[in-house]
Amino acid sequence: PGNLHPNASNIDALSQHFPLCMSHLHSTLRANAHLKHFGRLQYGLFLKGLGLSLEDALLFWRRSFRNMTDEKFDKEYRYNVRHSYGDVGGDANRRGRGYTPYSCQKLLTEALPGTGQNHGCPYRTFSPDNLVALLQNTGISDREVLKGVREDVGKQRYHIACNRVFDFTHKKEIKKVKDEGLWSASELDTILHPNTYFKRSFMLKH
Ligand code: SF4
Repeated sequence: PGNLHPNASNIDALSQHFPLCMSHLHSTLRANAHLKHFGRLQYGLFLKGLGLSLEDALLFWRRSFRNMTDEKFDKEYRYNVRHSYGDVGGDANRRGRGYTPYSCQKLLTEALPGTGQNHGCPYRTFSPDNLVALLQNTGISDREVLKGVREDVGKQRYHIACNRVFDFTHKKEIKKVKDEGLWSASELDTILHPNTYFKRSFMLKH
């Protein structure tokens, strides 16, 4: 298996393994050179969960806000990144550790994003038509899969839709590890955390 060393320069490459909630935030960040507060929090903690160091996180965000001066970044954004890593502020409990990456459960129950916000789980926050368009943008055109996704989200089984997409996009690799008995059944359990999605995808493809 390949070694996973996330740094400020390889997030674009790693983003092929991101679940839709995070690939949507990543492409929004690339398109707008900005993300709103809750999007930064959700995405930043996910990247932290990948193992991105505080130094690399600061570099990643500084470069991603490419239209911003250093002064503005230092004044308005640097502190929040450090805070999420527990480098500054917070109670004694969080000092040195900061905040934990959000689970699907959390993302699926928080308040819906407002206009211009992009956080949350797209399987829940997007209308079915926009969701299908978003999936098609990521290269998923299989009619059966898209039909299944529509049925899942119609029944509010959002994480099942996400797992359906994972199973489809990793079909070959999953068959291989099953056929060769390389992975136990529990290693292929339903995904309930964006960081699990990433890790499983990365391991299957490397
Ligand atoms: Fe992200 Fe979980 Fe929603 Fe999948 S089900 S898009 S991992 S929040």
